[in-house]
Amino acid sequence: MDAVDFDTIVIGAGISGLYQLYRLRELGQKVRVFEAGSGVGGTWYWNRYPGCRFDSESYSYGYSFSPELLEEWDWTEHFAPQPETERYLNHVADTFDLRRDIQFRSRVKGAAWDEGRQAWEITLEDGARCRARYVVTAVGPLSAPTLPRIPGVEDFRGEAYHTGLWPKHPVSFEGKRVAVIGTGATGVQAITEIAKTAGHLTVFQRRPNWCTPLHNRPITKAEMDEIRRTYPAIFERCRETAACFIHTTDPRGTFEVTPDEREAFWEMLYASPGFAIWMGNFKDVLIDRKANALFSDFVAGKIRQRVKDPRVAELLIPKDHGFGTRRVPQESGYYEAYNRPNVELISIIETPIVRLMPTGIRTTARELDFDMIVYATGFDAITGSLDRIDIRGVGGRSLKERWRAGLETFVGVMVNGFPNLFMVMGPHTALGNIPRSIEYNVEWIRDLLAHMGGHRLHVADARPDAVDEWTAFVKKKGEGLLANEVDSWMTGVNQNVEGKNIRIVARYSGTAPEYRDWCDRVAAEGYRELTLV
Ligand SMILES: Cc1cc2nc3c(=O)[nH]c(=O)nc-3n(C[C@H](O)[C@H](O)[C@H](O)COP(=O)(O)OP(=O)(O)OC[C@H]3O[C@@H](n4cnc5c(N)ncnc54)[C@H](O)[C@@H]3O)c2cc1C
Repeated sequence: MDAVDFDTIVIGAGISGLYQLYRLRELGQKVRVFEAGSGVGGTWYWNRYPGCRFDSESYSYGYSFSPELLEEWDWTEHFAPQPETERYLNHVADTFDLRRDIQFRSRVKGAAWDEGRQAWEITLEDGARCRARYVVTAVGPLSAPTLPRIPGVEDFRGEAYHTGLWPKHPVSFEGKRVAVIGTGATGVQAITEIAKTAGHLTVFQRRPNWCTPLHNRPITKAEMDEIRRTYPAIFERCRETAACFIHTTDPRGTFEVTPDEREAFWEMLYASPGFAIWMGNFKDVLIDRKANALFSDFVAGKIRQRVKDPRVAELLIPKDHGFGTRRVPQESGYYEAYNRPNVELISIIETPIVRLMPTGIRTTARELDFDMIVYATGFDAITGSLDRIDIRGVGGRSLKERWRAGLETFVGVMVNGFPNLFMVMGPHTALGNIPRSIEYNVEWIRDLLAHMGGHRLHVADARPDAVDEWTAFVKKKGEGLLANEVDSWMTGVNQNVEGKNIRIVARYSGTAPEYRDWCDRVAAEGYRELTLV
């Protein structure tokens, strides 16, 4: 066997990469993490835009693996803001002395499988190269920012920021004419905050989303003590629920209760924090058209109550998809922002943006001047950050090309023909409350590598039939879900990315317990789905 520089190279130092490093060190491996940013945290390092925070309850989102960490970390809000989560992940890196194996400001450009050496050759953007037996991609499902495909984007001479590449220096909106393009989960958070100080804020909306109240509030000391006492129960609950949240579907059907009971239940959900309204609704709201339409009407009624101008309210009510079939943004006064005299909403369906000018934005109806443009246009999701690395497997075959004909994976972690390449949060893995799924993926990879080490095996590849079986299962699990009939990042559609205009099954939509059962069985039966040599 030829010498390698590292046993494993991990790409990315977000929640996935940090935890993978921690677990691989346990195997005595020599590990190097390459991270494009200058600090740890991934999502919580890059997304510094005003208003950025979780939609997961803080205490259900943090790592669960270390009693020491759970004991010493206090969350200050039920849904922590970005600075707190970034602080938390820095604390994790310090506690476990992770930084010494992380090379920052190092973007991986290419990864090529060297058949002769049975190792991966990694190339960084600056041309540096090194070799490792294994590669773990921890590059994030939502970490490749995209700008809108509008002519003249590079012509604008004012301040311009993408929310996912927000600068570290303070950005002031005070008295400025600000444009925000995009009204997804990020846009909704940013607009609410920017509206408070901007001289004038113009929101450019392509399609509205069904947004519901977050109901965030501080965590008192007594509450934090109680949370700490009940951590085992919180994580146990996350293990049992379909999407690893503390919320779970109500066993009743929408039409099994009286109209009064239904109304009272929905009012209770609308007043409840977090994703209770999405994950804890009647069991048929996300699969039955009539149930979904009725609940969508309920939320539309709330929007009409909260937005004073009926014309604006109608623009903010989605007409092309039902509640919960796209990512539900959680808001803290979003609809009220449109009642402010300094905020204007422009539908780019009604009057499309024609181009960006040096001084502002031209639509089919008007030309508007701006001091600042904020792009809340999101990410090339799920495969975007993998597509941006030139990954070449056996025979020099490109992963991006391989997936052009359709996504295929083995449990979202491996791809046939790409030996010793493992993905944390790859396509077709369980998502939901993501750190819970990350911990599972990372530990599964660690166990596989421990098994290989124990049996003096050096190369693992997923068998084609195992890939076919998993891919077919993922497709089957998507059947009947209203969400898979709608264009969104969850169905692989992004109008800002070339070639991403056809709906695919981009994510696994079965339950997390089913996912873990499948993977546990593979491990328990000795990884028969893999070719191990
Ligand atoms: C604004 C926002 C809010 C969110 N809120 C929630 C929430 O409430 N609940 C939830 O469960 N999830 C949420 N998510 C999803 C979130 O991405 C995950 O929860 C989690 O942070 C993913 O961690 P990760 O380590 O897998 O990926 P990331 O945190 O995305 O980290 C990936 C890292 O890889 C690095 N990287 C990528 N490519 C390369 C390369 N080629 N070379 C070197 N480094 C590279 C990136 O710089 C980044 O640091 C949110 C996402 C966003 C964007």
